Amino acid sequence: MPTDENLFIRAGWVADGSGNAIQKDMVIEIQGEGIRGCRPVREGDCRRPDLDLGDCLLMPGLIDCHVHLFMSGKADPDMRQWQLAAPYDPMAEVLAAHLDQHLASGVAAIRDGGDYGAHALRFKQEEMPGGRWPLTVHVAGRAWRQTGRYGKLIGRSPGNGQGLAQAVAASTEAVDHIKIVNSGLNSLKIYGKQTAPQFSTEELRAAVQAAEARDKKVMVHVNGAEPVQRTIAAGCHSIEHGFFMGTDNFKRLADAPTFWVPTAVTMAGYARHAPPGSIEADVVRRNLDHQLDQVRQARELGVKVAVGTDAGTIGVHHGRAVREEIDLLLTAGFTIPEAVRCATRNGALLMGLSRTGKIAPGFRATLLALPGGPEAFPQNLSAPALFMIDGHTQFDHRA
Ligand SMILES: [Zn+2]
Repeated sequence: MPTDENLFIRAGWVADGSGNAIQKDMVIEIQGEGIRGCRPVREGDCRRPDLDLGDCLLMPGLIDCHVHLFMSGKADPDMRQWQLAAPYDPMAEVLAAHLDQHLASGVAAIRDGGDYGAHALRFKQEEMPGGRWPLTVHVAGRAWRQTGRYGKLIGRSPGNGQGLAQAVAASTEAVDHIKIVNSGLNSLKIYGKQTAPQFSTEELRAAVQAAEARDKKVMVHVNGAEPVQRTIAAGCHSIEHGFFMGTDNFKRLADAPTFWVPTAVTMAGYARHAPPGSIEADVVRRNLDHQLDQVRQARELGVKVAVGTDAGTIGVHHGRAVREEIDLLLTAGFTIPEAVRCATRNGALLMGLSRTGKIAPGFRATLLALPGGPEAFPQNLSAPALFMIDGHTQFDHRA
């Protein structure tokens, strides 16, 4: 518990979220809700640590930049059908359970990508004040899509002859960011099939200006070369999914302020539930391989990658999917410190959380302790030892 007294934590290893090498034998000093210091253990340090995590790897709390709180990752078709149309009251319990899962997994911040009823927005306003869920939750409310195109389950289209930008400007909902849908879904039947963009570059650019006038960032569901090219050109803040966007777009992203949230784990989730030997099983496996090639390319070109899972889609479970996405980044060639940065500091930068996602003086005391050293990573993400948000312990599973 935070007190006026400073809290001294002994850390076996620290992956501080910056992407720099893991440091061994460190002391983290916490004052109230913030980090005051992080330095190597000194010879002659005689003070006993208040919290001895000498056998743990410490990292900032996880950040999942793409979730849908209204859906569970379970495959049960009846349950999915219900969740895709349920009214708010019974849905509130589902949202609460998903937030519990995030906290149990060491997730300190999430960014919701929208739902048809803006249930996550209402839940945030009505249930979250009071501190039962101390994680940071940013919501999009309902996404914007073109009439007749993909996106009905997560949003609505501009109405009554309104353009996209007018709709964004006119909306008075207390959302944290704007979500736009600018392509279709990935085909699970025809490998590499691309869909047309939903909006023009000009429409998107005007929407970004309208969003920025409301002090909001724009996250865009978008797959395929042409839709992604328009989305980057329009100055949107993040490319969500970005399957089959192609090398030219990675070169553009490397020079742009735009983040990429690859959500590769969605294909791993589908793969688990596709009938063995089916066309679908083959296509999702190849989609995943292709996306991992893109992740490799993004790393080599210096694209800003943030971890997002699309939790709620089939086989992608709130909380634990973050570990799986990190696993996939490692498979695609990211080093451990780089993957940690994608799941912490990069997510914080994308969400506009200036004091989050790094273990350094001046940052929030939000820490996740994983048993064992770097060689146990990322398996140890499945059973974290201790989790602290703003200096408050959320769980401590040490025996
Ligand atoms: Zn999504």
